[in-house]
Amino acid sequence: MSKRDYYEVLGVSRDASQEEIKKAYRKLARKYHPDANKDDPDAEAKFKEISEAYAVLSDPDRRRQYDQFGHAGPTGQGFGFEDFNWQDFANFSGFGDIFDMIFGTGGRYRTGPQRGRDLRVEMEIAFEEAAFGVEKEITIPRVETCDTCGGSGAAPGTSPKTCPECGGRGQVSFAQQTSFGRFVQTRPCHRCGGRGQIVEVLCHTCHGSGRVEKRRRIKVRIPAGVDDGSRLRLAGEGEAGSRGGPPGDLYVYIRVRPHKIFEREGNNVVMELPITFAQAALGDEVEVPTLDGKSKFRIPEGTQTGTVFRLRGRGIPYLNGHGRGDQHVRVRVVTPRKLSDKQKKLLLEFAKLSGEQLSSQEKSFFKKMKDAFGG
Ligand SMILES: [Zn+2]
Ligand SMILES: [Zn+2]
Repeated sequence: MSKRDYYEVLGVSRDASQEEIKKAYRKLARKYHPDANKDDPDAEAKFKEISEAYAVLSDPDRRRQYDQFGHAGPTGQGFGFEDFNWQDFANFSGFGDIFDMIFGTGGRYRTGPQRGRDLRVEMEIAFEEAAFGVEKEITIPRVETCDTCGGSGAAPGTSPKTCPECGGRGQVSFAQQTSFGRFVQTRPCHRCGGRGQIVEVLCHTCHGSGRVEKRRRIKVRIPAGVDDGSRLRLAGEGEAGSRGGPPGDLYVYIRVRPHKIFEREGNNVVMELPITFAQAALGDEVEVPTLDGKSKFRIPEGTQTGTVFRLRGRGIPYLNGHGRGDQHVRVRVVTPRKLSDKQKKLLLEFAKLSGEQLSSQEKSFFKKMKDAFGG
C-alpha cells in the first residue's frame, strides 16, 4: 500500500505553521481514536496514519527531511514507526486531554484516591415550611465505606499487600527505542488494576470493593426563605470516596407546593381578596389570613377593584436573616348575582340618584312588577 502524503493526511498546506499542524492533529485524533470508534475497523489504521504524519511534521528536523526525501527519509529506511504505540505517543505529546474527553474525567490511569460521587435528591415542602424553615429527615441509598474492612477490601485480620508488579505505584513505565528517539511510556498496572495493592483474602461484607450500599437517614435543615428550585449542598454527605478519597456532596433540590391562597413574588406574599360592592363603596374593616395568622385592616370608602393593600413585614423572611417581605392584598369587587326584586328596585333607585339612564332595565322591571301584581 502506498503511503499518503503527510500534509494531505492532516489536511494542511505544505507551508502550514506548527500551530496549524497541531490543531489539525488534535481534531483528527479525537475523531479517529480507536477507543472512541470500537465499531469502526478502519479507525485504528486511520489513527496510526494521522499520528505518524503528526510525529514527523511536528518535528522541524523530521519535517525538513520529509520535505527533501519523502517517506523514505534520509536513510532510505523510512522514519522507523513500525510497531509504534500511537496512543501512548499521543499521550506523551501532550494530547492527554483528548483521552480525558474520551474516557471521562480522571484520564486513563485511575490509581490515586478518588472522590465519591455527588448525590442529588428532590424534596417537596409546604409554602409555610419554605417561609419559616424546617428540619426534615430523608432516607437515601448511598455507597459508604465498608465498616468491616475500613475500606481496604481485605478480610479482617489480613491487610492488602503492595503489588509486586508495580511496587505500589499502580502504573508501570517502560522505554521504547525508535529511530525517532527514546520514549518512556506509562501504562496502568495489570496485576493490581492501578490500585498499587493486592487483596489476597477478600472482605466478606464488601467482597473486596471496600464500599457497601446503605440506606441512610439524613437530617436536612432548610433555612427560612428558600424558594422553589433552591438547591442546598450538604458537604460530604454524598457517596464515599474510594482508596481513601473524600466523600462527594449531597444536593437537595427544593420543590415548594403551591398554596391555596397565597402566591409568592420574590419575598412578598400576594393574595386576592373578594369584597362586595357595598364594602368597596362604603369602606369596611376586613380580616385576611397571613403567614402569622389572621390580620385586620381597613378598606376606605370608594375603593376600586385592583387596589393593592400592603401589610408590612408579613411576607417571606430574607435568606440572609434580615427582615421580611410584605403581604400584598389585591381587592376584587364582586358584582352581585341573583338579586331579589327588592334589591333590584333599590339599585335602580340608586342608579337614578346617580344620574344614570337604565331605560330598558327600568321598563322591563316595572312591567314585571305589573304582571306579578296584576296592576
Ligand atoms: Zn469490606
Ligand atoms: Zn500493580
